[in-house]
Amino acid sequence: MYISSKTHAVVAALTMGCATAMQTSPGEPTSPAITARDLSTRLYIFSDDSMIGRQFGTEGNLKGAQYIANELARLGIQPGNGASYFQDVPAYKVSIAPGAQVILDGAPLAFGTDYVTNFPASGRAAPVDSLQVVYGGDLSDTTTLIPADQAAGRAILLAIRTPLQRNPNQILARYSGARAIITANDPRVMRPWAVTMSTDTTPARVNLVVSLAVAARLVGGDPLAMRTGTPGRWIRFSSIAFTRSQAPARNVIGIIPGSDPSLRGEYVALGAHNDHLGLRFAGPLDHDSLRAYNIMANRIVEARTHATPGTPGGGLTTAERGSIHVNVDSLHRIRPARQDSIYNGADDDGSGSVGMLEIAEAFAKSGTIPRRSLIFVWHTGEEAGLLGSRYFTDNPTVPRDSIVAQLNMDMIGRGGAFDFVGGGPTYLQLVGSRRLSTELGDIVEAVNRSEPIPLTFDYAFDANGHPERIYCRSDHYEYARYGIPIAFFTTGLHMDYHQLTDEPQYIDYEHMRKVAQLVHDVALRVGNLDHRVLVDKPKPDPRGACVQ
Ligand SMILES: [Zn+2]
Repeated sequence: MYISSKTHAVVAALTMGCATAMQTSPGEPTSPAITARDLSTRLYIFSDDSMIGRQFGTEGNLKGAQYIANELARLGIQPGNGASYFQDVPAYKVSIAPGAQVILDGAPLAFGTDYVTNFPASGRAAPVDSLQVVYGGDLSDTTTLIPADQAAGRAILLAIRTPLQRNPNQILARYSGARAIITANDPRVMRPWAVTMSTDTTPARVNLVVSLAVAARLVGGDPLAMRTGTPGRWIRFSSIAFTRSQAPARNVIGIIPGSDPSLRGEYVALGAHNDHLGLRFAGPLDHDSLRAYNIMANRIVEARTHATPGTPGGGLTTAERGSIHVNVDSLHRIRPARQDSIYNGADDDGSGSVGMLEIAEAFAKSGTIPRRSLIFVWHTGEEAGLLGSRYFTDNPTVPRDSIVAQLNMDMIGRGGAFDFVGGGPTYLQLVGSRRLSTELGDIVEAVNRSEPIPLTFDYAFDANGHPERIYCRSDHYEYARYGIPIAFFTTGLHMDYHQLTDEPQYIDYEHMRKVAQLVHDVALRVGNLDHRVLVDKPKPDPRGACVQ
């Protein structure tokens, strides 16, 4: 599942606690059926540290993609892009150019510690020389923000008093007339480069994230103590430049041809994403301390949101953070600190990726295949903004109109009572299953009722206008925008979402097995229908913005 900005991530104090672990040994051969054991075996491989977090545009993501392709070949599943299991996705890495500088008071700031920039997709910076900084207010309190007309033509510095509950891009859009937006935060938590699929060549505005120390230098003191509109120092941007180079990125695609020659030309698509977040650039954290902190933080947010239903979860307030106490010593009496800097993405979306391999294996080895064909797509670049699924649906390897439905799995390995109030061993969030086709939604329910242990569907996140916008936040939407009916299966967000602690020992494999089996059985049912699932709702504009 993707988040469109991680700009304002706030990192943790430490505390004591104890993490539960379910260890399973990897390396055993998999069996034809979808089993908890096989899911575990596969997930320990796919989310291993050797994949370096599988980040879009990096070698680690290629290794993950290669593992999937090797498994498809071993299982005798047909390649999904002509003779290849891979669909190369155009991707470009944008980095700061050697020698690029931001100058304050005649001296260059240090990239990575004093500041980082955004990385324009084009790799080209809009020309700017010296700019006077003006304090633009507290981004976490919109009543303090500078009016757009006063920001025009200037560099505005924004501070953040309390962690943001929402992506600030919507707020920042009003400052399109500013020459630069400078946000005070910790530059070390930002990625020092970006990978994009865009072929746009327009020079773009360069924005900065600067350290709190640099922010104080820019306006001559703690910005939060200043009045909005306070003028500050001049900074020089003139030598900022970027490099843009090709980066490796691949969707993985396999096909199981249908059993009925008259329907074989139609496809049921299944999807997951093969990428995750890579490395933590600010350096390692102690895994067990971070996990213990996340457990405590989760309890606080859960208590708060259930005391006042309908309020957003989001990050902790400063007071809430202060209420979590540090006792690293007693934690480390259990075992020594384990430094961790790899976002393994076991649930996100290792769970969907290996769940789909198990589904493919079950179809390939059981002899029970549907009349229609099955196309399995492991998308890349989901975390970078649904890039691989956008590319596949714009450039499908089978005719787009032949895809009758898409079933997407992203984060299907959690959802227990330990993760959130209302979770449990059969909990499943279902999103989008009736947004284009009432029939598809009905089929998912009917198939679920026929399972030995039916799952308990939570449709809350499918509500129109839901603030989490889950319908817009995973690969299925790229199919839905073309009018392909979709169903999105997820066990939901949790305390380890986009954390270093999203690791395979915290996955509930039996829960995950039930979800994968359900998706297998829905694919079989949809693939065997004597008609295409009926689209009875309006189709969105494929080039428009997603509406939850
Ligand atoms: Zn994600």
